Amino acid sequence: MSTEPTKILLTEDEMPRQWYNIQADLPVPLPPPVGMNGVPIGPDDLARVFPMNLIEQEMSTERWIDIPDEIQGILKLWRPSPLYRARRLEAALGTPAKIYYKNEGVSPAGSHKPNTAVAQAWYNKQFGIKYLTTETGAGQWGSALAMSCKLVGIECKVFMVRISFDQKPFRKIMMKTWGADCIPSPSMETAVGRKILSEMPDTPGSLAIAISEAIEQAVEREDTRYALGSVLNHVMMHQTIIGLEAKKQLEKVGRYPDVVIGCAGGGSNFAGISFPFICDKIHGKEVRIIATEPEACPTLTRGPYVYDAGDVAKMTPLLPMHSLGHGFIPPAIHAGGLRYHGMAPLVSHVRQLGLIEANSLPQTECYEAALLFAHTEGFIPAPETSHAIAETIREAKKAKEEGKEKVILMNWSGHGLMDLQGYDAFMSGKISDYPLPEEMLQRSLDALKDHPPVA
Ligand SMILES: *Cc1c(COP(=O)(O)O)cnc(C)c1O
Repeated sequence: MSTEPTKILLTEDEMPRQWYNIQADLPVPLPPPVGMNGVPIGPDDLARVFPMNLIEQEMSTERWIDIPDEIQGILKLWRPSPLYRARRLEAALGTPAKIYYKNEGVSPAGSHKPNTAVAQAWYNKQFGIKYLTTETGAGQWGSALAMSCKLVGIECKVFMVRISFDQKPFRKIMMKTWGADCIPSPSMETAVGRKILSEMPDTPGSLAIAISEAIEQAVEREDTRYALGSVLNHVMMHQTIIGLEAKKQLEKVGRYPDVVIGCAGGGSNFAGISFPFICDKIHGKEVRIIATEPEACPTLTRGPYVYDAGDVAKMTPLLPMHSLGHGFIPPAIHAGGLRYHGMAPLVSHVRQLGLIEANSLPQTECYEAALLFAHTEGFIPAPETSHAIAETIREAKKAKEEGKEKVILMNWSGHGLMDLQGYDAFMSGKISDYPLPEEMLQRSLDALKDHPPVA
C-alpha cells in the first residue's frame, strides 16, 4: 500500500521567495500593447492607471522577481496551500490516474485571487497610493482586493457586475466587512455607466463595463489607481507561486505531472499553476497543459487572436489576445468569474505557440463534476473551478480506457460556499447548456474591424 499522504504540505520556510516570469523563457517575445494606431505604448501611457512599480513588473523580462518580505508575511496567513491527492475521487472513477489538486480555496477570500491582490495593494501603497478602484464579476476578486487593501492599509472601491451584485449578496457583505465600498455596475457614478444605462437600462452588466467605470474613477484622482484581478502580465506572475509550490510538493512524493489542468476566465489561476511547467516544456520536458472554459464564453477556443481592448469604453490599450470582442455581454451563466471577453495576452501567446491546449465545456457537465467532487473529496468547488474538475474527470476516464497510470495536476481555484444559488438551481433542474450562438459572436467581433492586426 502507498504511504503517500493525502495532503502534501510545505513549511512556511519552503514557500517560494520569488515569482516566475515566463517572459524570460518565451521562444517568441510577447507582442506589445498598442494604441488604436498600432503604435506600441510605453510605461508613461499607463502611469495614470497603474503605479510605476507594477508597470515595471508588467514589462519586465527578468526570469525571477523577489517577493518582498512584507508580502510573504501576509501570504503566510494561508500559504503554502496544501496539495491534495484525490484518492476518493480516483476510486469513484475507477481510474488508474493519480489526481492531485492544489487547494487555493484555503485563502481568507476563498480563491487564488488574494495571491495577486495582496501584492498589488502592497505595491500601490509603496508608491504612495491611498485609494484603489477595481471591478468584480462573481465577487471573488472584489473581496480579495477588499481584504488586501485592509491588510496593507489603503482604501478600496469595487464596481460589481450587476447580475452578480443581485445573485451574490454575501460577496458584497464580505467586501463591506473588509471595509470596501461596493456598488453595482453599470452605475450612475461614471460617464460610461450613465451612457450605458441610458441605452440599456436592464443590462446585466459585464466585466468590460465595470472595468471602464473603475478606470474612469481612478484616472480622475492623483492618489488613486486601478487594480485588475487577471489578464495582465504581472498578475500572471504573482499567481505562479501556485505552480512553484505544486512542483515542490509533487517532488516530495517523487512525481511529475503528465497533464496540468486549470480553468480559464482571464487566465490567472491557469497561468499560476501552469507557467512553471510550461517553462519545463519550453526546455524539452514532455507535459500536456490544458485550459478549460465555459461553452457560453469560449474565448480561447472560438475567439480570434486579435488586438482588442480590455474594457468596453476602450480605456485600456489594445492587448494581443484571444477575444470575443470588448462589447461582448456574456450570457448569465453561473460561473461569473469565467465570463470575461478576453484572455490574458501571455496565455493567448502560449496558445499561439502551441504550448497549451484549450477546451470548452458545457455547464451541466461541470456541475455534475462539482457534485461528484463534493461527494468524494468533501469540498464544494466554485462553479469556475468545476470546469477544471470536469476536464480532469475526462482525462481520468481516458486514462482508464487506455489503462495508463498518468499523473494529473489540477488547480482547485476556489470554494463555492458563496455560490450555492447556482448549485440550488442545478439540483432543481434549472440549469441548461448554452453553446454561444455563432451570429452573436460575429456581431460582437464586428466592433474590431478598425483594430490593427497582431503582427
Ligand atoms: C476569478 C476566478 C476564476 C477565473 O479567473 P482567472 O483569472 O482565469 O483565474 C477561476 N476560479 C475562481 C475560484 C475564481 O475566483
